[in-house]
Amino acid sequence: MEVSLDSQHNSQLDTIRRTLLASIGALLYSLVILVCYKLGYVLIDVTDLVIIYICFWVGHLAAVGFVYFRHIRNMSARSMSLLHMVWAIIFVSIILYYTVEIRSALMMAYLTIISFGAFRLQWRGFFGITLFTLASYAVTLFFFQQNNSGRWSPELEVIIGITFLAAMLGFCILGREFSLLRERLTSSNRGLRIALAKIEALAITDELTGLYNRRHLLVCLDKQRAIANREGSRFVLAYIDIDEFKRINDEFGHRVGDEVLQQFSDLLQESIREIDLVSRYGGEEFVLLLTGVGIETAAIVVERIRDAVESLKFSENNLAMTISVGLTEYQAPETINDTLERADKLLYQAKQEGRNRVVQA
Ligand code: GH3
Ligand code: MG
Ligand code: MG
Repeated sequence: MEVSLDSQHNSQLDTIRRTLLASIGALLYSLVILVCYKLGYVLIDVTDLVIIYICFWVGHLAAVGFVYFRHIRNMSARSMSLLHMVWAIIFVSIILYYTVEIRSALMMAYLTIISFGAFRLQWRGFFGITLFTLASYAVTLFFFQQNNSGRWSPELEVIIGITFLAAMLGFCILGREFSLLRERLTSSNRGLRIALAKIEALAITDELTGLYNRRHLLVCLDKQRAIANREGSRFVLAYIDIDEFKRINDEFGHRVGDEVLQQFSDLLQESIREIDLVSRYGGEEFVLLLTGVGIETAAIVVERIRDAVESLKFSENNLAMTISVGLTEYQAPETINDTLERADKLLYQAKQEGRNRVVQA
């Protein structure tokens, strides 16, 4: 269905855009840390910094490559996988280990990373990644305090810790809201799509018989005409009308008339191939579209249907009835209206000649 293809395409573009955003964010963060290092706020050996950077960027680029690979293979891809987020959080935690004064500023990166999770994680996953962030920060603090007791200020750490905890809690609650909203949106989208499919089916179906209606027939005929004009293929129209149907209604009532129409429709449906089309054109009139055949073959099929109707009994009342048919082949490049009019005239001729017959052009 067009709708779903479109939304799949859009969500893939969203994924690519978010992956790009994550990469820009990572690049900016790396640059900021470099500047801080230059200014003496990141107390790390340059070799260690280079190793940490290489490790992080190799992991990040591998994750980006994976997303891109899935995208070009037309597989569903996610902007930031859980593993990718864990990787980035570990990177931030390691960097934080080497800082004191600017740690609370650099910690903001945590929030940016986990906010990516709000786009794809269920509420539990989001909660999990938040917990992981907190644990990872706690481990950083533990090692920092072990190795830098001189620069350790418990009061400051408690204030930063509480603020951080509160921010994470807020994030967690918002993430849950976000996830619920997304689930609701997904389910209402699904409902809309089902409703749309039903409406589409209703719009082309005749309610009483379940056959295609006139509108759909005309759309299909236009397509068939375009194919015939381009490729020189053939198709035939059979305009069918039940003989003296009014009499059935008058004698047995409308309900029985309806039942006869339904049974006759089933018979038509069973008599044609899958590539053909049968439609209720109006009241007790039906049009068959027989594709890929000439009038000689179509005449055999339609004559067989006429014969079957004549020998069958319809409804509980065992009614006998007959049909008349106007049969004609499309003559390129005439319009569909021309073909239908010709079929209608042939049908009229069949009625004039005594009904229960197929008249062909
Ligand atoms: P002819 O052989 O000339 O076609 O005679 P006829 O009685 O079939 O033709 P006419 O067009 O006079 O009558 C068609 C009848 O079909 C009239 C109408 O009441 C009936 N009809 C149309 N739609 C329906 C329907 O949905 N249900 C029922 N029960 N009857 C319908
Ligand atoms: Mg009629
Ligand atoms: Mg009739």
